[in-house]
Amino acid sequence: MTALPQGTILGYPRIGPRRELKKAVEAFWSGRSDLNTLESTAAQLRAATRERLTARGLGRADSAIPESFSFYDQVLDAAVTVGAIPARFEGLREADGSIGLPAYFTIARGEGERAPLEMTKWFDSNYHYLVPEIGPETTFSLSSDRLVQQVAEAISAGYVSRPVIVGPVTLLALAKASDAAPEGFDPLSRLDDLVPVYVDLLARLRAAGAEWVQLDEPALVSESLPASVEQLGDAAARALAVIGAAADRPSILVAAPYAALDANFAVLAAAPIEAIGIDLVRGDIPAAVDGLSGKALVGGVIDGHNIWRGDLSAAFDKLEALGALGAGQVIASTSTSLLHVPHDIADESKLDDRLVSWLAFADQKVEQVVTLARGLSEGRAAIQDALDAASAALADRGDAPGVRDGVVRSRELAEGDFSRVPYEQRESAQDEALGLPALPLTTIGSFPQTGDIRRARAQYIRGELSHDEYEEFLRREVDTVIELQENLGLDVLVHGEPERNDMVQYFAENLDGFAVTEHGWVQSYGSRATRPSILWGDVSRPAPITVGWSSYAQSKTAKHLKGMLTGPVTILAWSFVRDDQPLQATANQVALALRDEISDLEHAGIRIIQVDEPALRELLPLKKHDQAAYLEWSVASFRLATGGAAPATQVHTHLCYSEFGVVIDAIRALDADVTSIEAARSRMDVVTDIAEVGFTHGIGPGVYDIHSPRVPTTDEIESLLRRAVDEIPTRQLWVNPDCGLKTRGYEETTQSLQNIVEATRRVRAEVAVTA
Ligand code: GLN
Ligand code: ZN
Repeated sequence: MTALPQGTILGYPRIGPRRELKKAVEAFWSGRSDLNTLESTAAQLRAATRERLTARGLGRADSAIPESFSFYDQVLDAAVTVGAIPARFEGLREADGSIGLPAYFTIARGEGERAPLEMTKWFDSNYHYLVPEIGPETTFSLSSDRLVQQVAEAISAGYVSRPVIVGPVTLLALAKASDAAPEGFDPLSRLDDLVPVYVDLLARLRAAGAEWVQLDEPALVSESLPASVEQLGDAAARALAVIGAAADRPSILVAAPYAALDANFAVLAAAPIEAIGIDLVRGDIPAAVDGLSGKALVGGVIDGHNIWRGDLSAAFDKLEALGALGAGQVIASTSTSLLHVPHDIADESKLDDRLVSWLAFADQKVEQVVTLARGLSEGRAAIQDALDAASAALADRGDAPGVRDGVVRSRELAEGDFSRVPYEQRESAQDEALGLPALPLTTIGSFPQTGDIRRARAQYIRGELSHDEYEEFLRREVDTVIELQENLGLDVLVHGEPERNDMVQYFAENLDGFAVTEHGWVQSYGSRATRPSILWGDVSRPAPITVGWSSYAQSKTAKHLKGMLTGPVTILAWSFVRDDQPLQATANQVALALRDEISDLEHAGIRIIQVDEPALRELLPLKKHDQAAYLEWSVASFRLATGGAAPATQVHTHLCYSEFGVVIDAIRALDADVTSIEAARSRMDVVTDIAEVGFTHGIGPGVYDIHSPRVPTTDEIESLLRRAVDEIPTRQLWVNPDCGLKTRGYEETTQSLQNIVEATRRVRAEVAVTA
């Protein structure tokens, strides 16, 4: 067995520095290119990645380079590799039983009546994975040799890379029970049937030349999954006992990123594996446990989740402390895959030099790992200069103008800033001021971002459209959206958000304290990427942001126009946030800027204002003991943002998921007058939860799944609405889609909204009779 080298990374961005993978995959989907073209582009991307990583200092033939490519999602990769696909896709297998790339994409995206796998957030990140569906009927067998082929591809190019795959425990722990499964079925109960397929896979990887394999088992750190950490630990012990005992296998690194392993550290130490990857950015140095002496500890000391250059010296200290645990070897690494950060800071030509000197994107993080690895083998003195340079950058960051802004910091918060008058008083004030019908109809904010809109924005950025021309274009767009909503007969209108490239970036561009990148793309799901802004300094609002567009839109209609803001938690969650002060402090600064915006909207005559918080759930810490504090400050920041609104101003919020569970109390505590949520995909199951907890404020469970191009029929919507009306008092109910319409086209949107209006009309008629 060969030892792992002194430095490695847990994974690298797959999308390519210029989103090459997105372009290639989307060209294939649309029929503009064929499978061979796609495969060869992907192979080139993988080759370029290996080359980049060796150029940055990772070893070519020592398993330092992770083979972590994915066409769409690593969880889907694992599910397809072991053949764990839902029955509705079984017919897509090739004659030899394997699952090819076209079938893989169909499972991810759906086709006709075959619904795709559900998508949800990967631990506490903004990355979405596809949720496997597993039942008693699932048959596990090796169904794709893609990973094996990639190892062979690397070998033939002169690399010995380290294949990475989601491990069996995490695969099952993240899965949901299949449609065919009986009530209460737990996918983890299939572990013993699944494990032999991993044994099989590892043998093939070994035969292809892999000396190491990395099994990603982040489920082992999470206290937020249906299975308890003890159950997950037991499952890991069982699985690894079998996998580790296999004769023919590469050495095994089990990586457990995203938080501390706690008690499961001892489980991994006792398992017959060769290395353990632990997250030392989110977790502390664990206590020594039995079984470490023959193992390598891969210390995740470089933050894979954020873009700061950070304290390299402290990172090296952690590795030294790790050395005291008595492991056979200590290895420098990233805390998570670098999937969450953009490729290369050198691609950013427009960022301030000083800011750049504080940052590290994926390639810079690789270099940091390589530096730390050198320190491990040659001693601290050998890398002292690099450690000092990082410390100097950190000190410079602390002193730089804008990082601490006296005016922002002098704003004092009073207890009363966090609450409005009691809901009953607001409700009657709003009833009187707004005069809305029963089951008011609205949308979540954005209307389709058409090719025309994207083109105009690009032309404006390139200087081909003047500011006035661009504004004029946007006004026409708003006119169209208002007219459409009037014609449809919606009750609360929106301006459609055509001026926003992204609901967070738009605010980042208009607030002080943020910087926006040119190429800083990070995969969100499949071919989709976002470009998170960098929240580096104290946040303030130099001028009103949305007031112009909202009042323009309001001037075009006699109906109520809903102002549209993004909430503090979501702005934090979808940006790269400063790590030099508690998130709470940063959230409150953003909240104060939004509070001022709300006040300006009110003065401009806007009476309904939505503050979106789709990321409230996403930032929820994985560890139970951190959750209460998080929920407290996140809710407080929303309340600080909205607490200044007059009683007659109706505050809405919007959340994008329907698994409320742990956050339902927090949602209630937001104290928004109306909350819209996703519900269509789960066919309104969520209304039962809402009814159970006794939610008293307005609620709009979505009736249109905007993630799918499908147009829901009027009957279908009507039955969803009836279910809602059955369980929740009509007085509270709103009618709206699941989420914003920006990713949809006009044809499907218009038809769907028409059907929503018609279904609402039917249900309203009945409600009026029975009321
Ligand atoms: N107002 C936003 C929109 O409609 C909300 C999007 C979201 O929840 N992700 O696009
Ligand atoms: Zn949403």
